Amino acid sequence: MTALRSLAPTDTADIAPAGSHLIAPDCRGLNFWTIDRSLRDLLSLYLEQKALQHFTPHFERLGELAGGRLDELAMQADKRTPILHHRDRFGRDEDWVEYHPAYREMERIGFGEFGIHAMSRRPGVLGWPDIAPPLAKYALQYLFAQAEFALLCPLSVTDSSILLIQKYADERVKQRYLPGMLNQNLDTLIRGAQFMTEKSGGSDVSGITLTAKRAGDHWELWGDKWFCSCADHEIVLLLARCQGAPAGNAGLSLFAMPRRLEDGSRNRYRVVRLKDKLGSRSMAAGETIMEGAVAHLLGEPGRGLKQMMDQVNLSRLSHGFRAAGMMRRCLNEALQVARHRRAFGRTLIDHPMTRRQLLKLMLPTEQALSVSMAAAAAMTNADEAQLRILTPLVKYRACRDNIPVATGAMEMRGGNGYIEDWANAKLVRDAHLGLLWEGTSSVNALDIIRRAVGRERAHEALAQALKRRLNAAPIPGQFRGRLAALVDRAAGFAEKVATQAKAEASSRRAASALYHVTSSVLLGAEGAELGERGGDARRLLLARLVLDHRLGTSDPFALPDAAWEDAVSAKLLNDDAVSLSEATSLLAA
Ligand SMILES: Cc1cc2nc3c(=O)[nH]c(=O)nc-3n(C[C@H](O)[C@H](O)[C@H](O)COP(=O)(O)OP(=O)(O)OC[C@H]3O[C@@H](n4cnc5c(N)ncnc54)[C@H](O)[C@@H]3O)c2cc1C
Repeated sequence: MTALRSLAPTDTADIAPAGSHLIAPDCRGLNFWTIDRSLRDLLSLYLEQKALQHFTPHFERLGELAGGRLDELAMQADKRTPILHHRDRFGRDEDWVEYHPAYREMERIGFGEFGIHAMSRRPGVLGWPDIAPPLAKYALQYLFAQAEFALLCPLSVTDSSILLIQKYADERVKQRYLPGMLNQNLDTLIRGAQFMTEKSGGSDVSGITLTAKRAGDHWELWGDKWFCSCADHEIVLLLARCQGAPAGNAGLSLFAMPRRLEDGSRNRYRVVRLKDKLGSRSMAAGETIMEGAVAHLLGEPGRGLKQMMDQVNLSRLSHGFRAAGMMRRCLNEALQVARHRRAFGRTLIDHPMTRRQLLKLMLPTEQALSVSMAAAAAMTNADEAQLRILTPLVKYRACRDNIPVATGAMEMRGGNGYIEDWANAKLVRDAHLGLLWEGTSSVNALDIIRRAVGRERAHEALAQALKRRLNAAPIPGQFRGRLAALVDRAAGFAEKVATQAKAEASSRRAASALYHVTSSVLLGAEGAELGERGGDARRLLLARLVLDHRLGTSDPFALPDAAWEDAVSAKLLNDDAVSLSEATSLLAA
């Protein structure tokens, strides 16, 4: 947040036309890596030192782009949405999608320059000699999301499609598609897509009717798909039912369907319409009809849904980082306004209620970053149980929190926030999609409570890991005890909801409680660990705010301790690092 504060109103007034000093600046022109102390601090805790050193110049470069060129391109592409053409100029029924050049330039940044789609799947991307650590990729996604949300779908679905082909395809299919999918040259790149949802439903895919018929050494697909993001991508993974397979999920198989056949001709499917979406407008999502489209079976017949869940879970984690990144942008925009806009004789940030609102934007932002990082760290350590539960937790809660945070940031800018000149309106529109993709809130909450807790008992591994973290960090004793007790209560409540008949309706409540407790332990431990090294311990204060404000442990009719809140907000809205002893004494107050 350093640079945000140092940007005085006069800095922009010098270069802006007359009268514009009356309007608060936005974050355009700032480096989103440089101003993000939280990201830098957490990467220093979670990412191995050598990787951190190697990737830092790349984070810096993307931070600059996200606050500059990428942001400009994203605003342009959002307004000039893709157009579907059903025929080519020779009158052939070869549908194609026309994109604004701004979208193409963003593709060159995401796929071409940074290789975000390939860095987890092959060594050598961005000069790293091995496969990149998950956190390096997700930190790039988090920075990217601060400018452009929509293109993260193509980047992420290509990444996860590569994984599925590497894992389940036979050698012939691998050799044919993987070299193109793994490269960074836009002219030869093969981008992935995933078409699962049909009209009958995305939450419950047991009614899928797309039919696969055997035709010699390949399969032909007949039927249609209702939601198809990246509709024109070169290889599509989809679920279909082989002829004669049983009804329900057990009859679903996973297929890879190329856009072009080996002889270069178009495969037999058509994009019949593009969706007119609320957000994510630069990306082409459509409806498709398969008319005997050639497809390759991946893995075992009847195991399609299970295999596709690898892709869904990777996307869910990516959504956690996207939500954290978008909330960061919202928070930074709100801080920018609060520090420059004046009303009733004062700068906004000097109004007590503004400071409270800013903290309400900050808290979910920092929670989402901590929980996403912990999930990515679990992936690095191949800690399957923790990854299993943290992934839907962060997808569920961070995507929900993104909505009030985006709305709050829009409101902070006042009427201008509602006008499409500024990033706020787009952030509000884009935020809502996080709720729908890869399972709605209820679907993710049920996955957490019914499956991860009820069947797989992943909450036990999470609770143990949180306790270990609490014990290892220099957290003040009384506060540590309070957090440890809450871990037991949250895990116990999740288990109760998972196992008691008629408790299903409380699944979202139990999942939220587990998320908030998890995040408060992580924030507390991170703050203490950073403070112990002489760094910034402010996350300890945020941990306490989670308990007070997000877990509902305070009395709604009692006045808060205004002196305490003032002292905490002064620390959290200031750039100066908070020492461990300062944080400790505030916690004790
Ligand atoms: C812009 C956009 C792009 C998309 N791109 C793709 C794509 O590329 N590929 C793809 O496969 N899909 C895609 N989707 C589809 C998306 O994944 C689905 O919309 C989503 O999974 C929800 O499915 P549905 O729309 O059929 O709603 P439904 O499944 O019908 O859900 C309706 C409501 O019922 C609720 N519900 C369902 N089950 C339960 C339950 N057990 N308990 C309580 N409530 C329940 C849901 O929470 C929801 O509120 C896209 C969607 C959008 C909006």
